[in-house]
Amino acid sequence: MIKIAISGSSLDHLIVDPDCQQEVGELKYLQTRALVLRSRTFSETDRLLTLLTWDEGKVTAKAPGARRIKSKLAAAVELFTCSSFLLYRGKTLFTVSQAQMENCYSNLMVHLKDYARGLYFAELVDRLLPEGESNLPVFHLLQNAWAELEKGEVDRDLLTRFFELRLLLILGFCPHCHNCVLCGDTGGPFYWNTAAGGIFCSHCRSPQQPGVSLSRGAHALLTKLQQISGKELKTLRAPPLQQKELADFTACFIQYWTDVGPFKSLSFMEELHK
Ligand SMILES: [Zn+2]
Repeated sequence: MIKIAISGSSLDHLIVDPDCQQEVGELKYLQTRALVLRSRTFSETDRLLTLLTWDEGKVTAKAPGARRIKSKLAAAVELFTCSSFLLYRGKTLFTVSQAQMENCYSNLMVHLKDYARGLYFAELVDRLLPEGESNLPVFHLLQNAWAELEKGEVDRDLLTRFFELRLLLILGFCPHCHNCVLCGDTGGPFYWNTAAGGIFCSHCRSPQQPGVSLSRGAHALLTKLQQISGKELKTLRAPPLQQKELADFTACFIQYWTDVGPFKSLSFMEELHK
């Protein structure tokens, strides 16, 4: 009996070398499905990957020879790809032994604005998720977001806000936006206060920290995005000004509460939309 972490029938075709079976039994290998969050040059022939794996969350892996034109690994280790991997567990990082592409959201590579947005989704996950902790809700969220971005049936800005808010919720950062943090008022007008992690009505906001005004429309959009499913997102539309208010809100909230510094891909994305 080979004890390895198997996470899906599509991985059945990966065959473990019999000579390695003893090591496999000692969990030297990890067989798993993963999304490629980053794929960068490591040496003349190798790539260094940041993977969001099904079984062990975010891991770093070296892909030997993946930069060679005829490499069997090349397609499976591209950014925006979901692949099945057999990873050898080294002391400091994994090494890709085998990989087979399952799904590639390759259209994101073609359109620059979609590329920047898909990259921002990946960077958010990479920066906010700790190494080595499985998180299937985040895996599904990212995979679905890339798929929706590629299909192009949803408003891309709303998809981005939905992704940010849902990721925050999964990771335990949930801005209090349904009603006033202090008195529970639901009528507004509201003012959001990043440090307080929520919104205040005009009676409860502090004179020292009055917060930033949130229009009724933007507030309604924010609470809607916190509640709806990905399918409902397809029919949602919002005026540009409300979208701008919301984008400022999520950017400040993520910056303050996660303390991970500025996102290069967000700046890149905003530059493209000017
Ligand atoms: Zn209040």
